[in-house]
Amino acid sequence: MAISRLRLGIIRSPEIRTVMGRSRRSHSTSQAFAEVLRLPKRQLTKLVFPLQELERHLHPDSRPDLHLRIFDPSLEDIERADGFFTSTAQHRIEYLSSAVRLDHAPNLSRPEVCFIGRSNVGKSSLIKALFSLAPEVEVRVSKKPGHTKKMNFYKVGKYFTLVDMPGYGYRAPEDFVDMVEAYLKDRRNLMRTFLLVDSVVGIQSTDNIAIEMCEEFALPYVMVLTKIDKSSKGHLLKQVLQIQKFVDMQTQGCFPQLFPVSAVTYSGIHLLRCFLANITGNLKIND
Ligand code: GDP
Repeated sequence: MAISRLRLGIIRSPEIRTVMGRSRRSHSTSQAFAEVLRLPKRQLTKLVFPLQELERHLHPDSRPDLHLRIFDPSLEDIERADGFFTSTAQHRIEYLSSAVRLDHAPNLSRPEVCFIGRSNVGKSSLIKALFSLAPEVEVRVSKKPGHTKKMNFYKVGKYFTLVDMPGYGYRAPEDFVDMVEAYLKDRRNLMRTFLLVDSVVGIQSTDNIAIEMCEEFALPYVMVLTKIDKSSKGHLLKQVLQIQKFVDMQTQGCFPQLFPVSAVTYSGIHLLRCFLANITGNLKIND
């Protein structure tokens, strides 16, 4: 069945921005994780395993399965994964190129992951947070209405490429939708698609279009819940349970474990880095 692709589109927003992904939190890997490991246990859990922290607030008699332990790395694994996101002379993390069509995309043998989501879902903030250990990386942001939307490619050393797909919304120009669809359908080195959902508002109708696309092309994909610092614990828990139920009941290709993140508090960022390093075949998790 053809997807109603025209419903994907561009939300009108005011400006074009190309920003340096500099973060006040940038620091070396060892410093970063040494700091994390010194946190009191509750704070450490909240920062590194946000889903686990949320689970504590579920009523013990009616505890639904949040699939917490499917990807359950140790703190050592997570520390090792941070190393993949730290730029050195031998391991450069950098913006590679942009493309408006799949045949303009760099021809790469490296594994690839892509990030997709509605405009304003927090995609560029998340990518900047993931790359905060490499503050020189230039994370590109294009938001001007009517301006050509591009796929932006970032190289994580020789290990993998991260692709920032254009944000979607309403009133999509046909060529924009064609680009996203062609990429998802035909990119052979695409290992995983990360579909971003705003945890404050949950799954929206436009998100459903992207979900349908992933399902139709039988892509393995993962749901990342953004902006988790914005809601009360109760509201966040409600959204997480609703989205978890949706994933369990209505998807085939979606990874059962959700990845809640905040680009403000960095909650969930270390775990997501570890998952990225793992699914691109670069980090074996010690069981
Ligand atoms: P994009 O259009 O998907 O790239 O979204 P942006 O990264 O530009 O974020 C859209 C808005 O949400 C901006 O005002 C961000 O500051 C805000 N935002 C993004 N991530 C977070 C987050 O984790 N927490 C909070 N509180 N705000 C966020």
